[in-house]
Amino acid sequence: GFETFDAFFRHWAEERPDAVSHEQDGRITTYAQVEVFSRRFAAFLATHGVVKGDRVAWIGKNCDLYFQMLLTCGRIGVVMVPIGWRLAPAEMAYILEDTRTKLLFAGDGFEAVSHQLAAEVPQRPQVIEEAQARAAIPDCPADPITAAEPEAAFLQLYTSGTTGRPKGAVLCQRNFMGLRAPALDAGLPWAEWEDDEAILVCMPCAHIGGTGLGTMAFCAGVRAIVQAEFTADGALDAIGQGITRFFIVPAALQMLIQHPKATETDFTKLKYVMYGAAPIPLELLRQAVTTIPNASFMQCYGMTETTGTIAVLPPSDHDLDGNSRMRSAGKASPGVEIRIVDSAGNEVPRHTVGEIQTRSAANMLHYWQLPEATAKTLTSDGWVCTGDAAYMDEDGYVFIQDRIKDMIISGGENVYPAEVESAIYGHPQVAEVAVIGVPDARWGEAVKACVVPREGCEVDEASVIAWARERIAGFKVPKSVDVIPALPRNPSGKILRRNLREPYWEGMD
Ligand code: ATP
Ligand code: MG
Repeated sequence: GFETFDAFFRHWAEERPDAVSHEQDGRITTYAQVEVFSRRFAAFLATHGVVKGDRVAWIGKNCDLYFQMLLTCGRIGVVMVPIGWRLAPAEMAYILEDTRTKLLFAGDGFEAVSHQLAAEVPQRPQVIEEAQARAAIPDCPADPITAAEPEAAFLQLYTSGTTGRPKGAVLCQRNFMGLRAPALDAGLPWAEWEDDEAILVCMPCAHIGGTGLGTMAFCAGVRAIVQAEFTADGALDAIGQGITRFFIVPAALQMLIQHPKATETDFTKLKYVMYGAAPIPLELLRQAVTTIPNASFMQCYGMTETTGTIAVLPPSDHDLDGNSRMRSAGKASPGVEIRIVDSAGNEVPRHTVGEIQTRSAANMLHYWQLPEATAKTLTSDGWVCTGDAAYMDEDGYVFIQDRIKDMIISGGENVYPAEVESAIYGHPQVAEVAVIGVPDARWGEAVKACVVPREGCEVDEASVIAWARERIAGFKVPKSVDVIPALPRNPSGKILRRNLREPYWEGMD
């Protein structure tokens, strides 16, 4: 196994020069071309005064150019900061200022906002538009590279901001490569790639699900089909044209299987559907497995701080016959330790709920400029505290309940919103649901369901409550139902429960 992007660049340029590394809207870059491009881009950065350890930022949709820049940053130890294009300008400004980056690349369509932000933040970064970069980089010399060491930081990825302000997780090459060898050694079938495989990158590059996958494709030496953003239509097209793997979040999986084109799409080339990043309602998972029967489904659990996936629910656990393991997020990947601890940090017995902690080569270096948050999240002996509540069964399967922060305490009982949401999910009038705790004089907190009606339906509160009562324990059943037009979600498709909670808790804390 290689330990650096530099080694991969050289290897693929020599072994598979004419194989495609990136494809976007018919624009193709081969592994030979991407290696030369990378040396030219390194020279471009040098002429702009960017040296090892400096930060550069990207605001834009998913783009082949972004991935080529990112891989080069990895090669030479410059730190790339992708900033989510769906963020509000003030949120982008916060990240841009936080990073102190002096160079800001603006993807197509994000020129105006980039110039505006650059004029606002104190360090006044230079803006380079995508078109300018595409024109200038090919004229730079393809000088030899000084390769960065495996521990050199090269990516600062902000967490999704589901529970609060996003934090910049600083990641190094080893974080991306450290789990490859153990997975191959363990003989995991999905760790092996055929030469002619193609992977679809459609989740946002400002999140680990997008950037991690694009990077994985490069290390595997296969073709990455880059789509600017997720659309069910575009993803189904790519599947019909023969991609072999992709990763999506549950909200996107739901859109994909409900799209009218799903019934006429040819899924036969698709080998693996990887999904994760948020709890998945069991009913949705069943529908997905039924809609795409030939593909192997894999649930992935992980976080930005662990460079993505650290646990996998393997395809063999996706049989539909009353398999209770389908509720699990899977088992630790080879090379990964996972333990469940109580609030004092002591390991709890199997089947007891506690916090997930994990240790592996994929754990981030630290949070950027947040020593206190780093100390809280990374223990001195190298465990990441995930903030996720779960129990483990006797075979090591992890059953995530929900985030500890989202737990509702109602009448002294712990209620995890994800379980209640999963129970309500199949209700015929309900398209989407989020569950929160609201202040309640009698119960402390009362469970409330916020539901989005299915098109053309009216939601009957009593019927939703009755539906839940048939499926879960009485203390978990919502005491009330709000009907809302849409769920607030962050750019990774996660439900922002704190936004739903806010109006009820105003002035209470
Ligand atoms: P922030 O840390 O800023 O609040 P975030 O935690 O949503 O945002 P990410 O790093 O993108 O940011 O997401 C990691 C979290 O996503 C995990 O801690 C977990 O709560 C959730 N998650 C990831 N995979 C799964 C999964 N398979 N099932 C359930 N939850 C998951
Ligand atoms: Mg988090």
